[in-house]
Amino acid sequence: MVLGIESSCDETGAGLVRGGVLLGQAVASSMDEHARYRGVVPEIAARAHVHAVAPVVRVALDRAGLALADVGAVAVTTGPGLAGALQVGVAAAKAYAFSLGVPLYGVHHLAGHVAAATLDGGPLPDPCVVLIVSGGHTSLLLVRDLARDPILHLGDTLDDAAGECFDKVARILGLPYPGGPAIDRAARTGDPTAVRLPRPLTGPRDDPYAFSFSGLKTAAARWVEAQPEPHVPDAAAALQEAVADVLTRKAVRACTDHGIGTLVVVGGVAANSRLRALAEQRCAAAGITLRVPPLRLCTDNGAMVAAIGDLLVRSGAEPAPARLSVDPSAPLEFAALSPVPVPA
Ligand code: ATP
Ligand code: MG
Ligand code: FE
Repeated sequence: MVLGIESSCDETGAGLVRGGVLLGQAVASSMDEHARYRGVVPEIAARAHVHAVAPVVRVALDRAGLALADVGAVAVTTGPGLAGALQVGVAAAKAYAFSLGVPLYGVHHLAGHVAAATLDGGPLPDPCVVLIVSGGHTSLLLVRDLARDPILHLGDTLDDAAGECFDKVARILGLPYPGGPAIDRAARTGDPTAVRLPRPLTGPRDDPYAFSFSGLKTAAARWVEAQPEPHVPDAAAALQEAVADVLTRKAVRACTDHGIGTLVVVGGVAANSRLRALAEQRCAAAGITLRVPPLRLCTDNGAMVAAIGDLLVRSGAEPAPARLSVDPSAPLEFAALSPVPVPA
């Protein structure tokens, strides 16, 4: 059984996976401690991981009805992410691996996000297109064999991530942090056509797989300034519609361009109700199978790290050496198994 540890941002996650099956997981979040700063404070996140990591591993084991002695390998996120936060997870993973005498694997955070989808509905078809949408990432990926092949990066956001856009516009609209869930809630009673928002990078000359969300924030701010009494639900609905429209349009286009029959959507923004509905509608119309894992597997968690670790173990991948370190800016074009950064 593989123990996965995730600590790249504000979630401390532990997960246990054997043979592609999730046995137990636990997540602690320091989100409340960051709320008053309206964004993640790296030092606070790192300190919270120190307090949370051992209890989170304990709870995951208890939920699975297993003991530390059952752990056969440890996988940990080495990047990308916050350096100090990643360091806590890597140090903990080393302590578990070395004290138990089991192999250690350092994995790429985004490969973890992709692998989360295998825990709901089994192995992913080779190839498939994956849309990762979170507070820190908006990427379209072409995924082959997760454990063996490098993941091909089709496109990325040129500025803000989709989740960041929700968070920033929520702030402008006076909605609470994190903004995504607040926008989703407010949008329920709003009219998405009441506010005209642009669809960035969707012109015929634009990169079909690149995203840009910072302009939406500016457009929303201008609209608020121009209204004597801004109707928040309308703005929330219009923003949600614009983001979901662009994301699904480009993701479906990536599938049809490459003749790929499966689209996987992961990341915290995959929780968005309009994004889910529109993805379902457009995938169905294009004959594409859509896979969106349950929310607890979409946001940062340890189960996804255990899932990619389990795939690596089963593919006979080489474990990491003892000098495994963090790689906060791990490149976007990547393999599941993170190369060991050589200390200077
Ligand atoms: P990373 O980018 O490294 O994965 P993260 O912590 O920013 O880290 P997640 O935890 O996966 O990412 O997702 C958090 C983001 O998802 C936030 O920006 C939040 O606003 C957004 N989000 C959560 N629920 C919704 C929702 N219902 N609609 C839109 N956005 C949402
Ligand atoms: Mg988070
Ligand atoms: Fe993440």
